[in-house]
Amino acid sequence: MSKTRFYETVTACDECDHLHVIPPLKSGERFKCGRCQHVVLSVHEHVEGRILGTVFSALLMLSLALVFPFLGFSSRGVERSSTLLGSVDVLIGQDYLILGSIVCLALFIFPAIYLFSLLVLFWSFKHPDISLNARRHLTRWVVAIQPWLMVDVFLVGALVALVKMRSLADIELGLSFWAFCGYVVLLIRTVTLVDRRWLWNKMSGAAPNHVIEDKQHPDELKTAKLHSLIGCHFCGAVSPNSHSHCSRCGHSIHSRRPHSLTASIAFLIAAVIMFVPANVFPIMQTTFLGGSEPSTIMGGVFLLWSLGSYPVALVIFLASVVIPLTKILSLSWLCWQCYYPTEHDILKKVWLYRVTEVIGRWSMIDVFVVALLAGVVQMGNLISILPGQAVLSFAAVVILTMLSAVMFDPRLLWDKEDEIMQASKGDDK
Ligand SMILES: [Zn+2]
Ligand SMILES: [Zn+2]
Repeated sequence: MSKTRFYETVTACDECDHLHVIPPLKSGERFKCGRCQHVVLSVHEHVEGRILGTVFSALLMLSLALVFPFLGFSSRGVERSSTLLGSVDVLIGQDYLILGSIVCLALFIFPAIYLFSLLVLFWSFKHPDISLNARRHLTRWVVAIQPWLMVDVFLVGALVALVKMRSLADIELGLSFWAFCGYVVLLIRTVTLVDRRWLWNKMSGAAPNHVIEDKQHPDELKTAKLHSLIGCHFCGAVSPNSHSHCSRCGHSIHSRRPHSLTASIAFLIAAVIMFVPANVFPIMQTTFLGGSEPSTIMGGVFLLWSLGSYPVALVIFLASVVIPLTKILSLSWLCWQCYYPTEHDILKKVWLYRVTEVIGRWSMIDVFVVALLAGVVQMGNLISILPGQAVLSFAAVVILTMLSAVMFDPRLLWDKEDEIMQASKGDDK
């Protein structure tokens, strides 16, 4: 029998702002918002030990992935092997500083900050002499960095790059490649185990309780806004709307994200503008036996298709064309819905928002493919690959659409829905 081990009091759903009084949860249980079906909180079994295990193993795998060769590569008798850091070094050495930095941040720096912050936090649970402020900062890092960890996207990019390289030369996978696969699996497992409400609760105790005056029954709870409360977007605790900072995590709080729609639309417009050079200019320049050939995103897709690499052509087409366009169109439609809502089922709108959030980062595949090819395939006139002008524009499209989704406050969709419901109740009377 697993024992009750998690107590949280009143919390507001991140997506619809509905208040919930969470019953004591047993390990292995999770709590879903009855209004929007968002998983508000998950308490995994033996969570602390499992997180510590995956964090240590991920760090071990990361150090192995950095030490050994990642890929061996030979063409017409010339051999070359490359480590992960070596290929980043090649990029930076060729003045592709921004591309090298994006790879470094996404693969090593953000994950390392994430993993080490978790380690220090877990250590601080047993040594509470570390200042509360320092622990709050570390927990904020963990929560804020998590969406920007892209190791799984890089791994898929590496597989695509391997298929592309196979048509040019013989490939040998190094020990570091397998260590990197282990690192990806362990890091993703850590992310799924760390629930931010659980983490804040573990660090600062349960959220302050609130007696909700007009509550007769849990089903009669409304949104935090209607109860004159604000749900913290960082830790889930609720505070009275007279407060400017959360009483549990110290972060500034707002009933709705300020300038949410303006910022979201501004990022979308910037993404649309960058989408043009990303598709017009070449994303990659391949030199083979002295001849040089630039290729655009769509050019690369057609080439792969004509070579019979249908699955890879499809992956690149989906990641580089379909996903960014779908994301721009759906976010524009969702912003429009916050101003002029239509009759569509609100749960469908919320579902679209969640899909948009999940798929967005996968567009980075092509950026990582180009970065890896340019970092590894460097044999002068025999064969070498250089990033084209479009690669940074395309990376900007992905980052801007991700920022647009981060700035979009889904609670605004529910506010409009509530307004419509109130108006129709008024009409019935
Ligand atoms: Zn909800
Ligand atoms: Zn908070």
